[in-house]
Amino acid sequence: MKAFGPVPSRRLGQSLGINNIPPKVCTYSCVYCQIGKTQHLNCERRAFFHPDDLAREVTEKVNELRKRQTKIDYLSFVPDGEPTLDINLGEHIERLKPLNIKIAVITNGSLITIEDVRADLQKADLVSLKLDAINRKAWLKTDRPHKSLDMNSILQGMLEFRANFSGELITETMLLKGKNDSVEEIRRIAKFLTSLRPEKSYIAIPTRPPAVKGVTPASDHVLNQAYQIFKETLPHVEYLIGAGGSEFGFSGNVEEDLLSITSVHPMREDAVKQYLEKAGADWRVITNLIKVGSLVELEYQGEKFYLKKLPGKF
Ligand code: SF4
Repeated sequence: MKAFGPVPSRRLGQSLGINNIPPKVCTYSCVYCQIGKTQHLNCERRAFFHPDDLAREVTEKVNELRKRQTKIDYLSFVPDGEPTLDINLGEHIERLKPLNIKIAVITNGSLITIEDVRADLQKADLVSLKLDAINRKAWLKTDRPHKSLDMNSILQGMLEFRANFSGELITETMLLKGKNDSVEEIRRIAKFLTSLRPEKSYIAIPTRPPAVKGVTPASDHVLNQAYQIFKETLPHVEYLIGAGGSEFGFSGNVEEDLLSITSVHPMREDAVKQYLEKAGADWRVITNLIKVGSLVELEYQGEKFYLKKLPGKF
């Protein structure tokens, strides 16, 4: 199946997924990969599906959904592997443009050093780049790249791409305990992202069992710290932790709404107080959420923050 969904996504709204790569053909073998171990670690671009077949299947799916009046916000290349390994990516995008739906590509960015890959990505309306590390050792430990890849060239390629890309650029950084979660590394990532100028920077942790046993998400403390460091220089920072819920969603249930907000970003104590006051509730809501283990209280530079309790291990 080359088209699946639509699936609700916080980044992309109602997203119709497109699988343009057979499962687990990737340039990385990330220790946290949530779709299993990479079976074909590869850096050579090639054709996987014929553009006619892919366009036909996606068009049929879109027509069917339109008949049922189902909203589609994005057609998203988000395969179980690295989408830019597909030499036809640019052509697929061209073929889908007449459907008049925005097109997104979720890529690890490792092939962005190749001019043709940058040209293909330029055709998309939204590109999401992965940036888990700047330090080479941290990159090797976290993403386990193909041996022909070079970190500095990838960073340079990302900047070159950004300089000519007029669509929306977002980034995703997965933080893992003991791999890429030191304060120094987080600062290096934030510094690079600042020069990349993404519209949004997401901080993620694995929420499903990772490819390698024993891989653990960064701690709540580190996640809060990372958010605060990113926020110093980046305009829009959010968590991406698969917890669902819309930003500042309001269901009328104070506890649910607070957990929904704090799964997107930590809330400072004064913001929580204001929120409770508006909702006609008091601090007992927070005490109770902490007591049952749904919320955690953390300190950063002398201020208290509240964050939804995230999965600690698998
Ligand atoms: S880049 Fe994505 S698909 Fe490839 S190994 Fe990493 S997480 Fe899995």
